[in-house]
Amino acid sequence: MKLYNTLTRKKEEFQTLDGSDTVRMYSCGPTVYNYAHIGNLRTYVFMDLLRRALKYQGFNVKGVMNITDVGHLTDDGDDGEDKMEKTAREQKKDPYEIAKYYTEVFMKDFERLNIGVPEIVCKATDYISEMITYVEGLIGNGYGYETSDGIYYDISKFKDYGQLSGNTLEDLKAGARIEVNDGKRNPYDFAIWKKAPKEHIMQWPSPWGQGYPGWHIECSTMSRIHLGDQFDIHTGGVDHIPIHHENEIAQSEGLTGKNPAKFWIHGDFMLVDGGKMSKSLGNTYTIDQLIEKGYSPMVFRFFCLNAHYRKKLNFTFETMDAAKVSYERLCASLLKHKNSTAKTSEEVLSSYKKSFSDAVFDDLNVPQALGVLFTMLKEPASKDIYDLALDFDRVFGLDFDKVKEDVSSDIPSQIIEMAEKMQSARAEKNWAVADALRAEIASLGYNVKNTKDGYEIIKK
Ligand code: AMP
Ligand code: ZN
Repeated sequence: MKLYNTLTRKKEEFQTLDGSDTVRMYSCGPTVYNYAHIGNLRTYVFMDLLRRALKYQGFNVKGVMNITDVGHLTDDGDDGEDKMEKTAREQKKDPYEIAKYYTEVFMKDFERLNIGVPEIVCKATDYISEMITYVEGLIGNGYGYETSDGIYYDISKFKDYGQLSGNTLEDLKAGARIEVNDGKRNPYDFAIWKKAPKEHIMQWPSPWGQGYPGWHIECSTMSRIHLGDQFDIHTGGVDHIPIHHENEIAQSEGLTGKNPAKFWIHGDFMLVDGGKMSKSLGNTYTIDQLIEKGYSPMVFRFFCLNAHYRKKLNFTFETMDAAKVSYERLCASLLKHKNSTAKTSEEVLSSYKKSFSDAVFDDLNVPQALGVLFTMLKEPASKDIYDLALDFDRVFGLDFDKVKEDVSSDIPSQIIEMAEKMQSARAEKNWAVADALRAEIASLGYNVKNTKDGYEIIKK
């Protein structure tokens, strides 16, 4: 299996560091101060595809994902306020309560999107003493030093800083702002521990007084505890390359003398209408909002699968509509094969299996693998094809085994959309709206029958 390594800027043959069949993989998890938006979730769909592809090749995966519930400042560098504390203040709630709530919603999104939960999910606030030990180690090795507001990492001590992004120390020096923060040796040094002002709710005793950990030290500490000084794969979104992951490498090199991961793999961003997602533009959609608009979580997952993880993916409602139609067609063809008793020759099957594996094992070319599936489904109806599609679904994770008759493409998407809206109205006991939609659907030639599991659309 070949994977693109951001560190070497090459596709490399993947092997585990210790030659075993267990892949040790760390994924930067969410900062739980808000709902995850579809961009965040794209990154976790990518993490999931990678985990599934590794398993498809026969590896076991020991995955670790952190939950950042303290220390991530509003600016990825050292500026701004702790995101958790900011939300707590705005919502007049306890930051632990905020963290608990958004973590639960995040895990529900994982479930709805069929994202396998990594074997170990660990939250930063459970590892404070280990983080303090890490910081002490960095001070002991001459990389950490104290200032009036925290403990900083002296980047000038780490000559190889910038391997991942290509932002060398020279570049940092040239671009550095004149800092007001007194006591820092270099303007670009970053905090590994922050001293807490009195009003900071989340704070712990440390050899440097009350404080809280820096965001980067959290990942370095938790990955090391669960996966060791060096592990196989580290993932995250591309935004983590220039700061967060450079700093993780610097910390590990400072403490253990080693780069923590052999493969650094990054998923590219999701855009909305060709631009950045931002709260001020009102385009940071959540899965719940997509469901309200009539797109199931599986349609969103399918939408993500249509772009290679190293390419930007532009979200628009037009492209989502196209994904929905395409997904429904896919489901209809699956059913055609499922309901058949015919066979397909071994030769034909193994040739599809090979094309599929070649695509997946070539740096996770899932769009190409979907192409193989679509071509395969055009074969004459056969139960063997259905079974092979289920095998491919171990990587796609699109719940092929749960596809039911009622998503058949014979029903126009406009009718399905109206029926979905009708269901939402019924759920809200908005009977007038539900009845009006039922009548409208009937006038277009379809009946909606309520069933135990939801509903069924029947052509009149
Ligand atoms: P955060 O909760 O801000 O730490 O982000 C969680 C994950 O989402 C990180 O791995 C980010 O790299 C990723 N991420 C943030 N915005 C986007 C986006 N627009 N598209 C894809 N991934 C994103
Ligand atoms: Zn991280």
